[in-house]
Amino acid sequence: MPLKIAVIGTGPSGMYVAEGVKKKLPDTEIDLIDRLPTPFGLVRYGVAPDHQGTKKVINLYEKFLAQDGIRLVGNIEVGKDVSVAELRDAYDAVVIATGARKDKKLGIPGEELEGVIGSSDFVNWYNSHPDYSDLSPISSDSKAAVVIGNGNVAIDVARILVKSAEEMADSDLAEHSRKAIDAASIMNVTIAGRRGPAEASFTPPELRELGKLESALPNVTGAEVPSELPLHIDASQPEGRIKTKILDILRSFNDLEKTTQEKNITLQFLASPTAFLGQDKVTAVQFERMEMNEEGRPVGTQELFEIPADLVVTAIGYQSVPIPNVPFDEKLGRFPNIDGHIEDNLYVVGWGKRGPSGTIPTNRPDSFAVSRLIMENITADDNKEGSNALDKLLAERNCRPTDLSDWKTIDAKEHENGVRQKMSSIEEMLTAL
Ligand code: NAP
Repeated sequence: MPLKIAVIGTGPSGMYVAEGVKKKLPDTEIDLIDRLPTPFGLVRYGVAPDHQGTKKVINLYEKFLAQDGIRLVGNIEVGKDVSVAELRDAYDAVVIATGARKDKKLGIPGEELEGVIGSSDFVNWYNSHPDYSDLSPISSDSKAAVVIGNGNVAIDVARILVKSAEEMADSDLAEHSRKAIDAASIMNVTIAGRRGPAEASFTPPELRELGKLESALPNVTGAEVPSELPLHIDASQPEGRIKTKILDILRSFNDLEKTTQEKNITLQFLASPTAFLGQDKVTAVQFERMEMNEEGRPVGTQELFEIPADLVVTAIGYQSVPIPNVPFDEKLGRFPNIDGHIEDNLYVVGWGKRGPSGTIPTNRPDSFAVSRLIMENITADDNKEGSNALDKLLAERNCRPTDLSDWKTIDAKEHENGVRQKMSSIEEMLTAL
C-alpha cells in the first residue's frame, strides 16, 4: 500500500518535499495542490523577471511533475474549495508549502500613503501575479524611489526600477509594469538600510549585479565601507567570508566610471525610517541616522533627515498567511512546528516553517529533512483514499482543477511571441484551456 500525501503549494519547498519522499519511496502518490491554475509559486511570481537563468529550475520541476504517482492539482484553494481537515482525512500526510506572501509592516506614520507599497505586492505586480495585476504603484511623474531594507529583494526591486527597456528585453516583466516604469523614468533609487555595510543581508552575486548595469551607477553613502569586518562578525566563518566579499564589492563601486549610466542607485546605510511624509501621496521618507554598537545593533542618534521620494517600496521581509483551522503564530508570522511537524499528520516546509529566509536551493535540504520525518512518522493507511477522495469533493463542488497538461498549454501560449508574456488573470488562463 503506497503512502498518499497532499502538498499545499507548488513552489520550491513543496516540490522538494515531494521529491524527498519519492526518491526513497517511489510508489508514493503525491498531489501537489495550488491556488492558482499555474504551478511553481515563488519561481514564477517571486524570482525577478530578469533572472531567467534562475527560472530554468522550472524545467526540472516539470520533469518531476510528469513522474508516475505525482499530480498537479491547480486552481484549487485550500480553505475554500477544500478544507485542511478534509485533506487530512483523505491523505496519510498533508504538507503546507504555501510560503510567505504577506508584507511585514514597519508600523510608522504615513505607511498608508499613496506611493508606499510593500515588496511582496510590488514584486507580484511586476511578475504578473493575477491578484496584483490591477495595482498601479507607479505614477507617470515618479522620479525618485526609496527602497527600504538591505536584502536581496530590495536589490531586485531597485534593479527592475532602473533597468532600461533594452536591458529588460529578454525578461518576462509584466507588460503593465514595463509601461508604467518606462512612463515614469525614475532617475534615482535609494536602497536604505538601518545598519552598516558589514551588516547588510545582500548576497555577493546580487550586489555585484548593481555595478554592471548599463543604465545606473551605484554609490555608497551614510557610512564608510570599513577595510576590515567589525569584531562582532567572525571573518573565518562562512557568514564572515560572505560579508568580506560584500565589503569588497561596495568598495569597488567607488572605482566605477560613468559611461552610459544616467540613473543613480544610492546605497544609504545607517538610516532607520521614522515616517513617510506627504499629504495624500508620499513625497519623502524621514529617517533617523543610526550608529552601530559593538554587538552589531543599530542605535539611534536622534538626528533626523529626509530623502525625497514619490515611490517607496518596503522590502523588510515577509510573513505567511494563515490557513483556516491550522495553528498559526501571528507574532512570528508562520506555522508553529517542530522540525516541520505541526501536529498529527500535518507538516510544514519552506518559509512557512522557518520564516522568509534563504534562496531556492536552501529549500532542498530543508524540505528533504521534513520528507525524512514524514517517512519515519507515517505509515500508509488502507482507509485513506487520497486522490480519489479529493477528486470526488472537487467534482461535487464544481471545481475545475488544472493539471500538468493544462500548465503546458498555458506555458506554450505564454511563449507564442518568443519571450514569455505571462497571462495576468485567472480568467485568461482558464479561457486559454
Ligand atoms: P532579508 O534578506 O531578511 O532582508 C530584510 C531587510 O529588511 C534587512 O536588511 C533588515 O534589516 C530589513 N528590515 C527588517 N525590519 C526592518 C525595519 N523595521 N526597519 C528597517 N529595516 C528593516 O529579506 P528579503 O530581502 O525579503 O529576502 C528574503 C530571502 O529571499 C532572503 O534569504 C534573500 O536572500 C532571498 N532572496 C534571494 C534572491 C536571489 O538569490 N537572487 C532574491 C530575492 C530574495 P536588519 O538586518 O537590520 O534586520
